[in-house]
Amino acid sequence: MKKDNIKKLLMFIPGFRSHKTWKMIVASIYYFIAIITGVTNGFGAFLFFISAPFWIFSIVDLVTHKKKAIPVQKVIISFFISFVLMITGITISSQAEQNTTNAKSVPAETENTDSKENNINEESKSKDTADVANATQNTDSKEEKTSSKLNGKLKIHYINVGQGDSILIQQGDATMLIDAGPDANTTANYLKGQGIKKIDILVGTHPHADHIGGMPAVINGFEINKIYMPKVTHTSKIFENTMESIKAKGMKISTPHPGDSFKLGNADCTILAPNSSSYDNLNNYSIVLRIKFGNNSFIFDGDAESLSEGEILQKQLDIQSDVIKLGHHGSRTATSQSYLNKVNPKYAVISCGKGNSYGHPHAETMAKLKERNIKVYRTDENGTIICTSDGENIKFSCEPGSYNSSAQSKSNNTGGGGAAVKKSSTNSAPKHNPAPKQTTGSKKGETVYITSSGKKYHRSGCQYLKKSCIEIKKSDAISEGYTPCSKCNP
Ligand SMILES: [Zn+2]
Ligand SMILES: [Zn+2]
Repeated sequence: MKKDNIKKLLMFIPGFRSHKTWKMIVASIYYFIAIITGVTNGFGAFLFFISAPFWIFSIVDLVTHKKKAIPVQKVIISFFISFVLMITGITISSQAEQNTTNAKSVPAETENTDSKENNINEESKSKDTADVANATQNTDSKEEKTSSKLNGKLKIHYINVGQGDSILIQQGDATMLIDAGPDANTTANYLKGQGIKKIDILVGTHPHADHIGGMPAVINGFEINKIYMPKVTHTSKIFENTMESIKAKGMKISTPHPGDSFKLGNADCTILAPNSSSYDNLNNYSIVLRIKFGNNSFIFDGDAESLSEGEILQKQLDIQSDVIKLGHHGSRTATSQSYLNKVNPKYAVISCGKGNSYGHPHAETMAKLKERNIKVYRTDENGTIICTSDGENIKFSCEPGSYNSSAQSKSNNTGGGGAAVKKSSTNSAPKHNPAPKQTTGSKKGETVYITSSGKKYHRSGCQYLKKSCIEIKKSDAISEGYTPCSKCNP
């Protein structure tokens, strides 16, 4: 009796119906693999693999009319049940996969408050291998792959904080903030306005006040998982306040190491700088980051200047990026030609204050961008700039700004390569009639020469120009704070 029951049951199991030994062995191996797949990849995968032979064999039975033992109705019922089970399996596994990508989008940083360098390295390595494993599993699933892998969009807010930097980056549920602007609350208020409560990665590129001015408010006002800052101290009050806020929160600072990478949702972030442990210029301590999202990439240069750019180039890492946040607010001391060539961006973003006293962005930088036809977005003209990527296409929230240097923007609002300055009501000079150049004074259009370290501008051939000689418009020189040399009296 018992044997009969088993026989009846086996008649329904593909591979066991004919009682041929080789078929039974093949079938057993298949079912065993299905179970293992179920254990490693979840119940959905198990359902899919276990139901597949049932409905396939049902179809074969129906087509070949093998009515030997099983009546047609039963074959149809078996087909439907197994087919539904298979669809359920696919649904469960694709949902599970989405959940894991969501969960992965927030890196588990808790144990990472330990700032030991090795830990960071190990952690990022182990994450990398986990991601590789995840990626190989992903190839199993169907079209769902591409959409769930990129899980929505990458959204970058270049927040208008005046003369300074603050950049909010969102991918899935994960959030990163690079710098917090010069003011105490501008960045924190912007984040609150965006409904943000938690920052997974907080980056203070370097200790200058125009980058960390808003840090204490951000650290105190939001849940923060990890803080990256370069290994350098500063004597300013704002730096001390920032350190105190971090301490009060019981957090430790993670030191960035070039080449280290971490995940921000589905985006891959790589640290590119600083590459040395001591610099004369605080700006060169800037943490430089590259983010890759699908086929789009973005580079954030902090205030890194040509020296740091040279070091990055030497490392020969992949730095090509669609969008560059120019180093040091578009200063001529950053964005060297060789660096710009290698990054080879389509778009440049400049974070600088309208009419700032440094003359940022400088004419030399703007000329390089114009020459390469790189579209420029700048917070002094565009306000907050929001850039969105779906992994293939990049969109900006506004029209590009002009190629005017800060000095040019002050003297005339015309020309350049795009949207003219609109919000001139606040503190800019009264609008000139779009005056032709002669009327702004032929003298101002004159070319004068400056040196890399001095504060005077000179006539060509002045004895002070022996060491370095940089061509600049007289109007630019004046607006950048240079004064006439008393020797050559330009
Ligand atoms: Zn700065
Ligand atoms: Zn700086």
